[in-house]
Amino acid sequence: MTMESMNMPLKEADPEVYGLIRQEYDRVMGTVQLIASENFPARAVIEATGAPLQHKYAEGFPYKRLKKNNQVREWKKDGRYYEGNQIMDQIERLAIERAQELFGTEYACVQLFSGAPANECVYEAFIEYGDHVMAMDLANGGHLSHGSPVNYSGMRYNFMHYGVVEDTGIIDYDKLAKDALEHKPKMIVAGATAYPRIVDFVKFREICDSVGAELLVDMSHFAGLVAGKAHPTPVGFADVITTTTHKTLRGPRGAVILADEERGKAIDRAVFPGIQAGPHLNEIAAKAVCFQLCMQPEFQEYAQKVIDNARFFGEEMKKQGFKLVSDGTDTHLILVDLRDRNYSGNKGSKALIKAGICTNRNMVPGDPRPPMQTSGIRLGSPFMTTLGFGNDEFAKVASWIRRVLDDIKNDEEIEKVHNEIAELCQSFPHPDFLL
Ligand SMILES: *Cc1c(COP(=O)(O)O)cnc(C)c1O
Repeated sequence: MTMESMNMPLKEADPEVYGLIRQEYDRVMGTVQLIASENFPARAVIEATGAPLQHKYAEGFPYKRLKKNNQVREWKKDGRYYEGNQIMDQIERLAIERAQELFGTEYACVQLFSGAPANECVYEAFIEYGDHVMAMDLANGGHLSHGSPVNYSGMRYNFMHYGVVEDTGIIDYDKLAKDALEHKPKMIVAGATAYPRIVDFVKFREICDSVGAELLVDMSHFAGLVAGKAHPTPVGFADVITTTTHKTLRGPRGAVILADEERGKAIDRAVFPGIQAGPHLNEIAAKAVCFQLCMQPEFQEYAQKVIDNARFFGEEMKKQGFKLVSDGTDTHLILVDLRDRNYSGNKGSKALIKAGICTNRNMVPGDPRPPMQTSGIRLGSPFMTTLGFGNDEFAKVASWIRRVLDDIKNDEEIEKVHNEIAELCQSFPHPDFLL
């Protein structure tokens, strides 16, 4: 390869990939994104992700733990297995210290590649194969890495699942407390992917204390609301916290683990050398940028707006004749119950995407349909709140959803909705794009 081709911008070096990136950008900016786990990061985050930091091997940590009291991190001592990491150490230290400041914890690990491996590292650090664990039922919004039989977690550990009270959509804490006494879990996992209400950390703590279990809070979905002080924090209740950084936190793809200093030691070992090898320093730099942005007053306004928009959107959906699981939301997400209709969540979400509204099918509590069909649709406000949507726009979205879902085979109406969406999206300011 010549120096000339090394220096070519993407557009010229690979017009095919460039073209697809461009098309994806246009798709996202030209339609309505309502997938609750998705968001669009700030330009500074995207720049750091694409920064030339991808060359370096930095296995290990930017600190050593002191021998005489190995809970304490000694930042000046080199804990890497490769030379040349002085600057990388500073980048990772910045990300760690900002994460600790943002969430108020003693310890943070910022090397996690994603949410699923973050949970794997926590199990690896604190429980043994075959141990009993409890987590939210998958059909009630639990994540694959919370003990699904097709996931490593369900194959290695003995999971028992808790769910919600079907009528109210709220976690059945009484049953959870009773089942915990019987199942005697070593760990209980709180946090889910499709639960619209605030998780009661006080109750989870009490139940864990009653059986001597560790409490893992997986706040992947609502971490941004916690960071923006618009949602209660699990810090002070949980023993360990995991979160992705690319959902409501609006950062790069990846995850972090938060805990106290003592548990940090076991987490370090599980992450490296236990499960991961070389950390992705470009993603770590982008996480540092993300945490800095999350500490700005502007981000607190954003987090509150995400919740206000979701609440308003939920009320509008009810006015348009839809039933919501738990009758509303306290967070960023809404779960629409389509059991009163004669089609599945799958059919519904397929009709919506034709109109330019991007959602996902989702199980509802007590769902009679299988996961590939489902009887629900999950909606979230974070992405469009990032792009500037407020009440006026979310009221329009609710009415568009009604027009599509009241008659999912009416292609003429779907086309009309599609045109109205394209018009609104065009008139909206788009974030600066780099390419
Ligand atoms: C998204 C999510 C994960 C997994 O994150 P990935 O980055 O997709 O691996 C884990 N737990 C919960 C609760 C999530 O919402």
